[in-house]
Amino acid sequence: MKIITKYSLQFKLTAAFLAFTLFLFSLLGIFVNFLLEKQFESYILDKITQKNNEIVSNLEMRYIDSGGKWEDTGLENIGVNALGDSLMIRVSDVQGTVLWDATKHDSGMCAAILQNLAENMQAHNAGFKGGYVEKSFDVIVGQKVVGNVSIGYYGPYYYTDNDIHFLNSLNNLLLLGTLIAAAVAIVFGAFLAKWLSSPISRVIRAAGQIAQGKYDDRIHENSNTKEIVELTSSINILAETLSKQETLRKRLTADVAHELRTPTANLQSHIEAIIDGIWQPDAARLVSCHEETIRISKLVSDLENLARFEADNLILKKETFDLNALILKIIKSFENDISVKKINVTHELAAQYLSADKDKMEQVIVNLISNALKYTPEGGCIKIRTNETSELVFISVEDTGIGISNEDLPFIFERFYRADKSRNRATGGSGIGLAIVKFLAEAHGGAVTVESKPGLGSEFTVTLPKEL
Ligand code: ADP
Repeated sequence: MKIITKYSLQFKLTAAFLAFTLFLFSLLGIFVNFLLEKQFESYILDKITQKNNEIVSNLEMRYIDSGGKWEDTGLENIGVNALGDSLMIRVSDVQGTVLWDATKHDSGMCAAILQNLAENMQAHNAGFKGGYVEKSFDVIVGQKVVGNVSIGYYGPYYYTDNDIHFLNSLNNLLLLGTLIAAAVAIVFGAFLAKWLSSPISRVIRAAGQIAQGKYDDRIHENSNTKEIVELTSSINILAETLSKQETLRKRLTADVAHELRTPTANLQSHIEAIIDGIWQPDAARLVSCHEETIRISKLVSDLENLARFEADNLILKKETFDLNALILKIIKSFENDISVKKINVTHELAAQYLSADKDKMEQVIVNLISNALKYTPEGGCIKIRTNETSELVFISVEDTGIGISNEDLPFIFERFYRADKSRNRATGGSGIGLAIVKFLAEAHGGAVTVESKPGLGSEFTVTLPKEL
């Protein structure tokens, strides 16, 4: 089995920030060093050329100041100054006689200067290829060559101790910047992770509660991260849905037990009476027992029907469909019952389109029309209407049937509630149809209402939001 190491969000974010910062600063370091090296190199080369020119012009001035001849003291000043700049000069007159030579003046110092510069350059760049170079310049006064100076130095260019110090401090500064940025990245990463993960931890807690069957916990903490808001609201909806389903399940179990109690108790007492010899197992008794078993099996099939709806209760497959066409199709499917009972079915369809779960809406309308047909005597009328406002759609089924008494009205949407139990046994209803209508209407964010007058008829109206 592949073992996957799990890291906390905090660790991952901090590591990502740190890696990114280090990467950026390394890139910056390389870039800066490369650019600087180039710039610095040309600056140093310029400086060397400038110094060389300075030396030549100083020699020219010295020659003029000395009244058109070379004097040792003046030359020494210039030579010693040049040594300060790590340049070794050798001045000669037109005849080629050496007037002043740095290597003669202080050969130890010259060697030390070259040695030091070689070390500097090697330390800075191990691959640097350099060595002693010399350049020769004529000293010209009044367009006449009066002498010559050869300037020797460590070439092609050299970094003095100060230059090396400058470059090192710059790199140290970069390193310090990297360290500060890394520290900031760690703190920032940790802070961001904490900020992001605290609502997630809250979600984990709530999900844990849900896993234990505790559905009351809701996440109220706000977040301005879109995904986190979606996550918390999903968990809240999950808890809400599970809680509803739990309530439904409990209620259903209680209702089923209640509904089964009567027929099974009847059956039991009938059979016991027959076993005890109190009753003869004659046809009438057996028919009565049979009726009870039919009632139980009808109830079971209704329960299956209900369970089907409640199982996928909140999964609504929204689509925009032609409501009127659907109603006409349903009316057609009842054609046979309508003609047998000689019912006059009319419609006034003013709303056209609806955005909802089409199959579930079909079930709602089928249940209402089937009830209207069931509870309307022969020769009666049923009128189906649709209507709409800017936000709502209304579907109503009106009949001239037996109506519902005021005592029954508040309960007819309850599961297993039948207005007149004995009468319904004959019509075969078990009181689930309207429960399904109510359930589905509410699942769509709508409602179902009823107006009824016993003996005159009923009107059921389903109100739905236009957009689900
Ligand atoms: P059933 O399967 O018994 O019809 P319903 O849930 O559909 O179950 O209806 C519950 C009760 O409401 C019915 O038993 C009936 O008494 C009453 N009812 C429903 N629709 C009508 C109607 N159109 N006219 C009169 N009574 C109705």
